[in-house]
Amino acid sequence: MYYISTMKNRTQPHLEKSAIIGQIPLACSNELAAVEFMEQQRWNGCPCCVHCESKNVYKMVDAKTGQRNKRFLWRCHDCKEQYTVRIGSVYEETRLPLRHWCYGFWRMSTSKKGVSALEIKRHCQISYKSALFLMHRIRFALTPDGRSPKKLQFIVEADETYVGGKPRPGTGFHKSGRGTKKTPVFAMVERGGDIRRRVVADVSGRTLKAALRECVDREAKIITDDFAAYRGVDRLFRGRHDVVCHSRGEYVLRGNNHIHTNTAESSFAILKRGITGIYHAVSKKHLPRYVSEFDFRWNTRKMNDGERTVAAIRSAEGKRLMYRESTQKAA
Ligand SMILES: [Zn+2]
Repeated sequence: MYYISTMKNRTQPHLEKSAIIGQIPLACSNELAAVEFMEQQRWNGCPCCVHCESKNVYKMVDAKTGQRNKRFLWRCHDCKEQYTVRIGSVYEETRLPLRHWCYGFWRMSTSKKGVSALEIKRHCQISYKSALFLMHRIRFALTPDGRSPKKLQFIVEADETYVGGKPRPGTGFHKSGRGTKKTPVFAMVERGGDIRRRVVADVSGRTLKAALRECVDREAKIITDDFAAYRGVDRLFRGRHDVVCHSRGEYVLRGNNHIHTNTAESSFAILKRGITGIYHAVSKKHLPRYVSEFDFRWNTRKMNDGERTVAAIRSAEGKRLMYRESTQKAA
């Protein structure tokens, strides 16, 4: 009941960055616009088969109306398979309309302190459970998968903080700083560049140095406070290790005002405000995903909202199987 559309291999003109922002509100309210927006981001005007990568493909069309097929299917001339833009992405196995996914990607990649599931629920008019599901998968999409292991360079500030837990007396959660039962998060941030944060099991020298080696280039210069776990860091990095003595109330090294860890500390301030203000409480198990969400926004802060949304959508591609694996491991 279909006929071959003449859209085969037609290349769409490349969209200007600023034009993308203008398209997003429509893609968040109209399903056809959402599907075409997602298709444009995924294939960049050059649609190809998700099964055999052939470019010899066409949009399936409803014979009666001449409109696009209700399920927005594509078909491949070479392998004869049908598919949609959802295949292979974090939204493959859901029936949630793509316009809600667009809205989720837009809001989560651009709201500085994050966005609550209640807000997504109200704005998309979906159930709270669906909103949580959608946000969780988007957070998964935003988690780096090792495909872009660019190490931090030049001047890198490192610092730890403690997140989570209700401050009940006697539980160890009421304390702040080192020695609390909250979950430690370790941040490494390149001055004027990207951040890499890790939820760590402990704040021992061995754990923190392993994270530093994983994320930071050996030529970099590291700046930390005088916490004992950072002793010996100078032996790992050629650019040496500078220390500000927080224990002596020193926050910027005198006479050397670039030696401070204020960037790392302000990144924690945003994370904590988001987690307590928007998400209220986050379990230890889910904390790494929330941290990834905040890292994504930090690392895309120089982009405009349209570019950020597109970067988030593109990060979702090829993550479907990984999502399954990671949820099975967690179960
Ligand atoms: Zn094919």
